[in-house]
Amino acid sequence: MKRIWIALAAVVAMLSGVYWFLSGRADAPQAKAPGQKLRIVTTNSILEDMVHNVGQDRIELYSIVQRGVDPHEYEPKPTDIAQATEADLIFHNGLNLETGGSGWFNKLVETAHKHFDEDVFAASDGVKAQHLTTNVNEQDPHAWLDLANGMQYVKTITAKMKAADPANAEYYQQNADRYLAKLGALHQTAQSQFLDLPASQRVLVTSEGAFKYFAASYHVTPAYIWEINTESQGTPEQMASVLAKIRSSDVRSLFVETSVSPKAMNKVAQETGLKVFSKVFTDSLAKEGQPGDTYYAMMKWNLDHIHAGLSVTK
Ligand SMILES: [Zn+2]
Repeated sequence: MKRIWIALAAVVAMLSGVYWFLSGRADAPQAKAPGQKLRIVTTNSILEDMVHNVGQDRIELYSIVQRGVDPHEYEPKPTDIAQATEADLIFHNGLNLETGGSGWFNKLVETAHKHFDEDVFAASDGVKAQHLTTNVNEQDPHAWLDLANGMQYVKTITAKMKAADPANAEYYQQNADRYLAKLGALHQTAQSQFLDLPASQRVLVTSEGAFKYFAASYHVTPAYIWEINTESQGTPEQMASVLAKIRSSDVRSLFVETSVSPKAMNKVAQETGLKVFSKVFTDSLAKEGQPGDTYYAMMKWNLDHIHAGLSVTK
């Protein structure tokens, strides 16, 4: 009887070893073989730039939604699925950015056989969420437009990269520390940047209501045509509502995001006689080599152009 138990235990031990070998998934993250880089996929260019700042040339990085394209709704391409399947880590924004509307990201994760909180992480983890006003049960995804939240994203991203690739942990942390100091300095300036203007003049008009987090940190009041890109855009009701808001305050300029159609905002300009002062970056970076092509540069562009636009004399 004892012999049978010993034999059985040996078989169980052998099978679990075989399972461990075949599944390739140990409890602890596996160290990368020398010369083998950590493969990371991000859903959009803002996260791509944050990951790039931390990993530099020691990682393989692929980003799904092209620059200038709206990440709320997206149709993954075969290359996106192939890259996601091969990835060690996938970062998405979370807070309903890629999972609201059509929920394209949930489908991609399933197709790529990846798992949330195992190899798929929300960069926004640890950020205090704000909610939509039209649907208070839904979170507003645009947390990165407050640099303090962007810094929290970088910390989360760095922690996950260090855990997945311990051999480069120190390198990632050093890069992150340098990057966080740079973002922190901009955040500090931004917190008082708009206070030289009277509150009545600090009204920021955009197409999508993407500036809730930005507004709370930097003391401006957001006004918009539609609240989130997943809803219908520029309906007569939405137009009437934004026009009423503009007429009841001291709005000096309009702004239009690079990842939405300017059609509706041009109509607001026509109706009010106000000018579209400049583009602003919300859900996407500029194409590489153009102004606003990094997270830092897009935030700096937004802060400076919005301040200049709100300062226009009538
Ligand atoms: Zn958006």
